[in-house]
Amino acid sequence: MKNFDYVKPQTTADAIARGSASGARFIAGGTLLVDLLRLDVEAPDLVVDLNGLPLREIEASDNGLRVGALVSNSDLAVHPAVMREYPVLSQALLAGASPQLRNMATLAGNLLQRTRCSYFRDIAVATCNKRNPGSGCAALEGHSRMHALVGVSERCIAAHPSDMCVALLALDASVHTEGANGARQIPIANFHTLAGDAPELETVLGRGELVTAVSLPKSAFSAHSAYVKVRDRASFAFALVSVAAALELENDRIKQARVALGDVGSKPWRCLEVEQALVGQPATRESFLHAAALALGDAKPTKDNAFKVALARRMIPRALEQARSAT
Ligand code: SF4
Repeated sequence: MKNFDYVKPQTTADAIARGSASGARFIAGGTLLVDLLRLDVEAPDLVVDLNGLPLREIEASDNGLRVGALVSNSDLAVHPAVMREYPVLSQALLAGASPQLRNMATLAGNLLQRTRCSYFRDIAVATCNKRNPGSGCAALEGHSRMHALVGVSERCIAAHPSDMCVALLALDASVHTEGANGARQIPIANFHTLAGDAPELETVLGRGELVTAVSLPKSAFSAHSAYVKVRDRASFAFALVSVAAALELENDRIKQARVALGDVGSKPWRCLEVEQALVGQPATRESFLHAAALALGDAKPTKDNAFKVALARRMIPRALEQARSAT
């Protein structure tokens, strides 16, 4: 591991200034960066520790919820307002990682998770456009069972691994940032970027721009939402496919629907075509099956991961049924 300098600023302004330096990396819970430092995937000159900043508040109001960037995944999952108003978010958080990791991992760190593509994490593999731009993509001809099939490009097919972000996408969350050019509020649908020509860029954040909070609008889905995750083993594993489903019902008809998928896209993936097919329909299994058949119509599977299309189409009705039956 390369030696690096370490600072722990006590103000947001100082953190932004330090984090804007070339070769600087922010650290909070450390559940990702420490791994990547040990693997020599990341080799920063300066690590900026954010744990001195006052970003650990969860504030509930009539307009929704505002969650500080340093709130742990564990604390967020069991917060009474989250369990009551945003159960899909609580379920997604509890489906991720292990209790020990959730105790350390932060909201902002979860938003900024890097891919679990094994070629990205192995510096003995020379070809990875995300780690080494312009070098190629080992996964295109290699093992790609866990990889993405929408939002991909010829340069990268890595899947976004977060559970939490899938629920935040279904809930229309916004990411609040501060940087050298001031503060921004970014809808989460626009926060992560597609693989495109520059897969090394994963979000719209500028250099030194700091995530300070995530806000959730008042939910129309508090009574009917669910997160379903299918993985190779029952815990401490990334999803093959996950589904965040949320329904607003009126006289057993669907007034609004949200369906977002995890681990199928280069970013968390909203299924607008499924949602549109559900609006106005009775909340029945037949409606769910009909709408789910429209999911991932533009998928570009590899030789290894075409099963994810059929899996997602089977999981969406299950998630919608759980959402409908939730209390
Ligand atoms: Fe690298 Fe992306 Fe290819 Fe994986 S899929 S090897 S992260 S370029």
